[in-house]
Amino acid sequence: MPADLFCDIEFLKGVGKARGEKYRKLGINSPYELIYHIPKDYLDFRTHVPVCQAPLNESSVLKLTIFRKLPPQRIKGGLVICKAAATDGFDDILIVIYNNVYAFQALQENETYFMFGKVTGNFTRREITSPVYIKASENVLIQPKYHLTQGLSANMIRSNMRQALDLLHKAPFETLPDHVRSKYQLCTLVSALENVHFPSSDSAAEIARHRLAFDELLKLQLGMSLLKSRSRRQTAYKLNSGVDMAPFFSSLPFTLTDGQLSAVNEIIADLCRSTPMNRLLQGDVGSGKTAVAAAACFFAAKNNVQSALMAPTEILASQHFKTLSDLLEPLGLRVGLLTGSLTPKKKELLRNSISSGELDVIVGTHAIIQKDVEYAALGLVITDEQHRFGVQQRAALAEKGDSPHRLVMSATPIPRTLALYIYGDLDVSAITQLPKGRKPVQTFAVTGKMRQRAFSFVRQHLDEGRQAYVVCPMIEDSDSDLFAVKSYAENAAKNDLKGYSTALLHGRMRSNEKEKVMKQFRNGDIQVLICTTVVEVGVDVPNAAVMVIENAERFGLSQLHQLRGRVGRGQYSSYCILITDNHSEDCLKRMKIISSTNDGFKISEADLKLRGPGDFFGSAQHGLPPLKIADVECSMSLMNQAKLCCEEILAADPDLSAPEHHTLRVDTLRLFNKDIVG
Ligand code: ADP
Ligand code: MG
Repeated sequence: MPADLFCDIEFLKGVGKARGEKYRKLGINSPYELIYHIPKDYLDFRTHVPVCQAPLNESSVLKLTIFRKLPPQRIKGGLVICKAAATDGFDDILIVIYNNVYAFQALQENETYFMFGKVTGNFTRREITSPVYIKASENVLIQPKYHLTQGLSANMIRSNMRQALDLLHKAPFETLPDHVRSKYQLCTLVSALENVHFPSSDSAAEIARHRLAFDELLKLQLGMSLLKSRSRRQTAYKLNSGVDMAPFFSSLPFTLTDGQLSAVNEIIADLCRSTPMNRLLQGDVGSGKTAVAAAACFFAAKNNVQSALMAPTEILASQHFKTLSDLLEPLGLRVGLLTGSLTPKKKELLRNSISSGELDVIVGTHAIIQKDVEYAALGLVITDEQHRFGVQQRAALAEKGDSPHRLVMSATPIPRTLALYIYGDLDVSAITQLPKGRKPVQTFAVTGKMRQRAFSFVRQHLDEGRQAYVVCPMIEDSDSDLFAVKSYAENAAKNDLKGYSTALLHGRMRSNEKEKVMKQFRNGDIQVLICTTVVEVGVDVPNAAVMVIENAERFGLSQLHQLRGRVGRGQYSSYCILITDNHSEDCLKRMKIISSTNDGFKISEADLKLRGPGDFFGSAQHGLPPLKIADVECSMSLMNQAKLCCEEILAADPDLSAPEHHTLRVDTLRLFNKDIVG
């Protein structure tokens, strides 16, 4: 059988089983997927310099003819050094290759090559070390640079790529109708794929990348819009706006901020429509999203409709249960907590009161939307700290019951254009200010030498009646030198925190133990919680004013911001001390950013810049397909074009069923790896 684009990658000439495995490690299973293995950069052999002009200790391209290969030398430790003498016609240079006899053997005397590598030495004697090279007679002078994996050399990938592209040329395809291509001035897909790998010029590469980036953004938009339109059925719960909200507002221990109020109003307006609400509530940590959720539950209950509030962890679920019961039960609502750790008997009882309609608000983990839970009238589903739930989970939720209204709450605020992409299936409300009187958390990054001082600072605050968190990355000691909560807690109780009440909290504890500890911490019986990132999301103990984070280098920016959000939730001045002995540039940058701002939007933008958009999009956080080529930051205008194009296409063909959109539809589904249209 001749190989085709969608056959197993093993069938390409020279690949076979072993290399096929290596490709699979890169996520490449077929020639088609290989073609979408986009080079990260190019090596341009056209602009070579004479040996005498190559700057020392930098990489350059040289055009060299080999005149003598020396015998390989074996030195201590099994290392092999191969050397060859070469010339550019004026000056000589030594080619040095470490530990790669094969690369050396392939070089021929009296042959001329373009070589790219670091040039060292002095003015009389120069060396070029482990160069990448091609024969000067080769006509492909711009070579793709790929993300490699062990056992797949650049040359091998290039030769397999050539074969895969030849398969494409035999059976070319195109995802965009001609009129779309010409409107947005895009080259054909085949030409884009050819030129992204083997461009004949810089501009050819650029045109190719532009088309592929456009495609990627378009498919992302299409996929998200298809998800959105699928959930825009009729809801059985078009609520009545005639609810008096005054009792709710006046029973709150504070007045809502303007941002909270307008979010409440937007939500209520949605709840009164005949299509289900599908809204994202964005707000920085501590902006008071829970109170907004409570208002929505109150409004729903007054319409005799049940609400479910779903949290990513049991700790958070029981905290919300407490907040909502305290707020809503005095107003006559009945609130229940359903988690996986209840005894079967209690679960059964709860399920009965859910199905009888006795309960108005049900709080829990994802257990509350499982099939065995039947609701009398589930009209509103709220997911908190939404970044733990991806696109697919949101879609699954849409299937529950009679198309309930949905509100998702996220504490990872992101710039609006990005939000439109990442949450393209949602409408967005944003709470942009924090409640009055909040003092920003003061953040300091220090090295381990300052640990003693950090702890005396912690003790001082404990003595003033505050509480503290200490966060470590690990649970148990391991080979790494990372701090682990178990040994850390033991040690602290004997030394730095002697005489203070401390407790341990981590994800591997049984949930009733976790709950007990959290309760004691909330009551103030425990002064210091020594914990892993289980406290990362949502936990709200306003009396906690200091947080120490060990091995701060281990955490991403958004995660540090989330963690830090556990303090500064009350009227006290609060502090976050980041301890790290890592001096890498990347770590220093992160520490600098997190210590200089408390603004979640700024932090997520910085995070995006540091991590790169592909990573940002594809992270488990958002559950979106990763972007391979589109550089979101530099291409806001491309994003807008793709969005416009998406709207035009869907206006004419809402479910992409027209023949001219067939390949586009298939490709979009392939990107999302699931039949989202079905
Ligand atoms: P998040 O948005 O991070 O989920 P929470 O809903 O947990 O924030 O609220 C953080 C804290 O702020 C809670 O202790 C809550 O009682 C308090 N809070 C919420 N809204 C206000 C407000 N308008 N004024 C004062 N405090 C508020
Ligand atoms: Mg919260």
